[in-house]
Amino acid sequence: MKITVAGAGAMGCRFGAALFEAGHQVTLLDGWREHVTAVNEAGLKVTDATGTRVLPIPAVLFPVGEPAHGVDGPADLVIVFAKATATAAVAAAATTAGAIGPSTLVLTLQNGLGNIEALQAHVPASRLLAGTTTLGTELLGPGHIRALGSGETVLGPLPGAGGGGVTEPAERIALALYGAGISVRISPSALEVIWAKVAFNCVMNSLCSIASIPVSALARYSGFDALAGSVLDEVAAVARAEGVTVDTAAALRLMHAQFDPSASGDHLASMLQDLMNGRPTEIAQLNGAIAARAAARGVDAPVNTTVSRLIGLLEATWTGRVNRLHPQAP
Ligand code: NAD
Repeated sequence: MKITVAGAGAMGCRFGAALFEAGHQVTLLDGWREHVTAVNEAGLKVTDATGTRVLPIPAVLFPVGEPAHGVDGPADLVIVFAKATATAAVAAAATTAGAIGPSTLVLTLQNGLGNIEALQAHVPASRLLAGTTTLGTELLGPGHIRALGSGETVLGPLPGAGGGGVTEPAERIALALYGAGISVRISPSALEVIWAKVAFNCVMNSLCSIASIPVSALARYSGFDALAGSVLDEVAAVARAEGVTVDTAAALRLMHAQFDPSASGDHLASMLQDLMNGRPTEIAQLNGAIAARAAARGVDAPVNTTVSRLIGLLEATWTGRVNRLHPQAP
């Protein structure tokens, strides 16, 4: 397949690399100049448990407001892997670059709410597939990723796209991912899969960020279930108002499973990493989206509204954080 990865940071490069190594024609499309230059000059470096390899994958820069040069006509598949904060901009760039044609399938495995709506401005629901992935990847620097452990990718069609989850586009993409060594499953409901992960992230990402702790440290707080439950109940209520079921008990069980340091216990939530790196978080697509959708549908969501504001406070003040009681004189 001819595949364009639109938004080629850690995860975009991971999927792009796997598909490239499986023999697909892959182009990475990204807005970070140093990263694109590094990939084009020295190849994409992929580090995993087996070592580091260098892949000669072409990368194309999309300068803001200018068309990207170097995307060779419409792709069979565009995988959008920007942060959810940038989905609209990246999808517009992919369209301007000519990567999304009349038969192109578009796949999003991004976190958060709102990606589907942003992408529907560029592709009809029948050609848009969505889902989640639990694969973990870090961007070590321009042109260099570290692929972490194993995980599952779940994708499916949108409501109304038909087929009870086994649509031909879903099968075609799942087959390509499977052939690239990615563990993949088709779900009959992309929305349920996405909302389940949103529910998980609205608790784990946000609470670990507010407390500035690795995931495993949550286990030390005896009030965790009550706190998580108050976030989850609102997420489920908003989902219900949108016709989607969120299993809050299953979400809580999944969270407890992460407390074990041998699972992902020592992992730093991506939102905390974004704060530490001085980058915008995906809060507006997580608790912030719950608060906004709740308001629009007349549902109460005071806990998610407050959590969203607390993360906003951290974004605005992170560089002024006090880390010790008596700052030492230099
Ligand atoms: P990422 O931050 O690695 O990349 C996103 C974009 O930010 C890319 O365009 C990248 O070039 C740019 N970027 C990254 N570092 C930059 C820097 N220092 N300077 C300038 N630009 C920079 O994002 P990601 O981790 O690949 O996440 C993409 C989506 O996938 C998100 O929705 C995320 O929540 C989701 N996700 C991530 C992981 C993971 O392990 N990384 C796992 C599952 C889902």
